[in-house]
Amino acid sequence: MQQTLKDQQAVVTGGGRGIGAAVVERLAAEGAYVTFTYASSHAAADRLVARVEEAGGRARAVAVDSADRDQPRHLVEDSSSSGGLDIVVANAGGGTIKPRGELDDAANDRMIDVNVRGTVDLIRFAVPHLRPGGRVITIGSASAHYMPDDGTSVYGMTKAVVAGLVQGLAREFGPRQITVNNVQSGPVDTDANPADGPASDGLRSLIPLGRFGTTSEVASLVAYLASDAARLINGASIDVDGGYSS
Ligand code: NDP
Repeated sequence: MQQTLKDQQAVVTGGGRGIGAAVVERLAAEGAYVTFTYASSHAAADRLVARVEEAGGRARAVAVDSADRDQPRHLVEDSSSSGGLDIVVANAGGGTIKPRGELDDAANDRMIDVNVRGTVDLIRFAVPHLRPGGRVITIGSASAHYMPDDGTSVYGMTKAVVAGLVQGLAREFGPRQITVNNVQSGPVDTDANPADGPASDGLRSLIPLGRFGTTSEVASLVAYLASDAARLINGASIDVDGGYSS
């Protein structure tokens, strides 16, 4: 099979598990050398590196907290030391979903720190290292524009901020032939949102296809946006949600 990302340098945040892990595996299968971050699950990150290598790919894992002010800067400097970066995927994130009024300041601050500031900082630090033709891809959420459940307002706000950010950055970086796009997942079966979790039946009833997405289905869109075939797509937020937010 022809590899669409042969020898490209990629950084994926939050790649140890879930959607990020599927993105790491897919980009590595397409030939990229992938540096990915995780928060604290060393064993899961090590297992992922082993899986990638067994499949003939290249990946390395680094513990980096996306909410930290300095660690993401060191990450991109280190990852681009052999000549630059080609692909940056800002995936680390998540949310505390609680009924209105029950979210405390700490939970709200954490969502804003990781989902918003962590994404802004990663991109800001990475862009000087991105080569022409580079790709910036954020993992947003359908919750940016569809919030049927009580409790998703702050999480949805952080993902709406990411959609707005991408539109502005696309205009700023386009002249350098760098595209910036946002993948808006609907419910995807991960540890954070298991397809057999307590809220899953309610969510599933809102998805026209009647099922949660899989991490590899999200990774397919990321791989496409990273490929040369997607070179005209810039500033887009694309839903991959089985019609959940339609
Ligand atoms: P998971 O909780 O399954 O996995 C999260 C991964 O990110 C883990 O590897 C975790 O590390 C890492 N991580 C978490 N916080 C940080 C941090 N501060 N710094 C670095 N790494 C971190 O999440 P999902 O795969 O479900 O979600 C991934 C992204 O997709 C998020 O941005 C989320 O908002 C978005 N999304 C998910 C949906 C879903 O239904 N699953 C729907 C819509 C959007 P460790 O393993 O060490 O804990």
